Amino acid sequence: MNLTSKKRSANRPWHTLACKEVYQALASSEQGLDAQEAEQRLQHYGTNKLTAAVGRGPIKRFFSQFHNLLIYILLIAAAVTAAIEHWIDSGVIVGVVLINAIIGFIQEGKAEKALDAIRNMLTHQAMVRRNQKNVLLPAEQLVPGDIVTIESGDKVPADLRLVSVKNLRIDESMLTGESLPVEKNTLAIDEHAALGDRFCLAYSGTLVTYGTALGIVVATGDKTEIGRISSMLRTVSQLITPLLKQIARFSQWLTFAIITIASSTFAYGWYIQHSSIKDLFMSAVGLAVAAIPEGLPAIMTITLAIGVQRMAHRNAIIRRLPAVETLGSVTVICSDKTGTLTCNEMTVKSVFVNNRLFTVDGVGYDPHGGFQLDQQTIAITDYPSLHELIRAAVLCNNARLEQKAGNWLVHGDPTEAALITLAHKAKLDPDLLNQEMPRIDIIPFESEHRYMATLHHDHGGHAFVFVKGAPERVLSMCGLQRSNGEDVPIHLQQWHETLQAMASQGQRLLAIAFKPVTAAPRQISFEDVETGLTLLGIVGMIDPPRPEAVKAVQDCQNAGIRVKMITGDHAVTAAAIAAQINIGDGSVLSGEQVDNMDDSELQAAIRQVDVFARTSPENKLRLVTALQADGQVVAMTGDGVNDAPALKRADVGVAMGKKGTEVAKETSEMVLADDNFASIAHAVEEGRGIYDNLKKSIIFILPTNGGEALTIVAAIIMGTQLPITPVQILWVNMITAVTLALTLAFEAPERHIMQRMPRKPNEPLLSGFLIWRILFVSLIIVTGTFGLFLWEQSLGTAIEEARTVAVNTLVGFEMFYVFNSRYLHNCVLNIHGLFGNRWVWLAVSLLSLFQLAFTYWPPLQKLFGTVAIDLHTWIMIVAVASSVFVLVEIEKFFIRLFKLN
Ligand code: ATP
Repeated sequence: MNLTSKKRSANRPWHTLACKEVYQALASSEQGLDAQEAEQRLQHYGTNKLTAAVGRGPIKRFFSQFHNLLIYILLIAAAVTAAIEHWIDSGVIVGVVLINAIIGFIQEGKAEKALDAIRNMLTHQAMVRRNQKNVLLPAEQLVPGDIVTIESGDKVPADLRLVSVKNLRIDESMLTGESLPVEKNTLAIDEHAALGDRFCLAYSGTLVTYGTALGIVVATGDKTEIGRISSMLRTVSQLITPLLKQIARFSQWLTFAIITIASSTFAYGWYIQHSSIKDLFMSAVGLAVAAIPEGLPAIMTITLAIGVQRMAHRNAIIRRLPAVETLGSVTVICSDKTGTLTCNEMTVKSVFVNNRLFTVDGVGYDPHGGFQLDQQTIAITDYPSLHELIRAAVLCNNARLEQKAGNWLVHGDPTEAALITLAHKAKLDPDLLNQEMPRIDIIPFESEHRYMATLHHDHGGHAFVFVKGAPERVLSMCGLQRSNGEDVPIHLQQWHETLQAMASQGQRLLAIAFKPVTAAPRQISFEDVETGLTLLGIVGMIDPPRPEAVKAVQDCQNAGIRVKMITGDHAVTAAAIAAQINIGDGSVLSGEQVDNMDDSELQAAIRQVDVFARTSPENKLRLVTALQADGQVVAMTGDGVNDAPALKRADVGVAMGKKGTEVAKETSEMVLADDNFASIAHAVEEGRGIYDNLKKSIIFILPTNGGEALTIVAAIIMGTQLPITPVQILWVNMITAVTLALTLAFEAPERHIMQRMPRKPNEPLLSGFLIWRILFVSLIIVTGTFGLFLWEQSLGTAIEEARTVAVNTLVGFEMFYVFNSRYLHNCVLNIHGLFGNRWVWLAVSLLSLFQLAFTYWPPLQKLFGTVAIDLHTWIMIVAVASSVFVLVEIEKFFIRLFKLN
């Protein structure tokens, strides 16, 4: 391989070359490259990947940890203590700030990596011609010279020079800013044409909104147009959500509160208590470090990252972090039917042809089974009309079946694969049929027009169009019907009755028709196929509901979330499936009815109806808008290009990972790796769990700060010595944050979480309940800690010992309180409550060791001014500290009793 020798003449840009010249320049052909050549080129050019984002460098990221108002206050505190020559205090404060920055730095890096890994789970595939066969490969493996097929919904995988196009339109807004899709062609163009005018090129990363095309890869990776200007697109994960913003605002608020309280206590001490200036400075510093929840931002970020990873394990891949929080307040889920609520495993069960209803045996794609008529097995050779219909169904078809390790694998659309299985059951060989009647052109299936048409020539010079699609649509295109080998005028009324009967069994229906064409054209257009067809018959297939979806729908309903089915399928089929999954009350609205309603009528109708059939993507958008106008928070699933506006509009757009187009994935907040409705329900559960965990870390961490701050204020007011010194406070804050508080990030969602109503979207994080809990626990902590300190002092113990007791009491409170915090409202006095999270026990054990070191290890004694205490004192500490556990459980009992939460 040496492309340089065949270098395009005088380096002319690709858009100025004719297709032939491009093939030549890239030493390629319509057959595509062979695997060996492709491999060599891959070695030479490297993978088709943009160089990873060079985010903030480590140094910048480290220093950004200090860019926080609360940290500034701590640094001021360090400066103040240094100014009054309290070197140890000053050193410890600086140490804590440093440790905090290091922890934040490491955790943030980890969280960003985890999120990137999740994003990489969404691999991008491309249809490439290799060894003369079309294969689906990871887009990263594309090399210049590869021949690639793109179609509506795809993201263009590399820069392509188009060699054949069919109605191709591409959204290039990310590159050119042009918001309307651009119509493409294959004509070479003037060298000076601007980027947006090079109609024969398709650029990597842009989105195909319509049509299909074939192109030669001319540039990959960083050499692509997007690679050149991509610094703006190489986004670095941003760990920001509305909640984290709320916390940031809270920090600011807290800072002002701290400054106000510190200065007023300072003034109080100065004017009323006449304390020494040194003592007052120390108290002010103590107050500042006490009130600052240093660990909180890091814990919140970790909680979020762990939650998102957990969701990914349950097949819900979060693309935009704020969705995690929105999920917890979703009140309506609008779901597709096929593949999401059903298995998307189609089996043809009946064929109505020539006024007879044939039934078909067998399950799944295994091509074993026979045909019956009036419960008698029949030979298909006796029924030429059945044979004719199946032949048409196979020709108008893109699917392929493959047997691997005893299983039948589908390549392509399951609806079409079911027809291939049907053909095998009828002993028809699809490959042979396609050789006898090669395909010349195609109008691919799109939900928009609901049919697919193909043009075929036989070797005798005849041409035919075959059409299959949604029966009402195809019937409207037919003037004739096939009857005993003859074309006779169609009896529409009769056909509609047949459709009704077949659909009422929950069968998905397809009508199959054909039309002979004279003059053997090479192309077909919509006008060519939309009139004058002859109807061959109707095929009915089953697609059973997913068993797990039935349960998931019920779980959602219990969780106060209404599930709506929005499908492109027939109204009667949709109603039958909805009944099996327990969605709605049997009423169905069709897309046409929706079209005929104005916004207020629609808003009223959606309160009653849960099943929408034969809907168009525009209907979906209107439904989301109407639901939102009705005050609902909506999650909406989608897979096609045309679903993008509805996905964007929904509060949580959910794209299908398997059958979804790249366009749908790009616009959605969440992607389902398995296309399964149950995964949405799991994501909602996890979303609620994450929100709970964030709340849990807050109600765990803040009372510690509250308790400490109140202890210091109390000491200043009472004019006693500080029960806990600033360095001791920092020790408590840091050590409990990295042990106890962290365990709450790992809490699994509470058991009854899916029996609660959705959270109100505008509910403030610090709700009345949360503020109450924080104050309540702060008071318990201050009473116990200050109480024991005073008690020790009243016994005449040295100040060092009294302080050691106070610190151990404070940490003891935290150890007990972490158990309470595992459940916000529920009682933890049960096996699961006490032992359900092993990390809590590990953290408590670790923390006990730290406290022993803090109390008995000479270097720490020196640093923190502690002394050894005796067993009797320990017993007293544990007794006092355990009171928080009992009191909070009693509080929870009353909260539950009077439903105060
Ligand atoms: P959902 O929106 O729940 O996924 P759906 O898959 O039934 O529903 P569409 O894919 O829009 O919705 O299909 C609508 C109708 O079009 C089907 O009921 C069927 O009659 C017809 N249809 C589906 N797939 C094909 C296909 N590959 N070729 C021809 N007609 C098809």
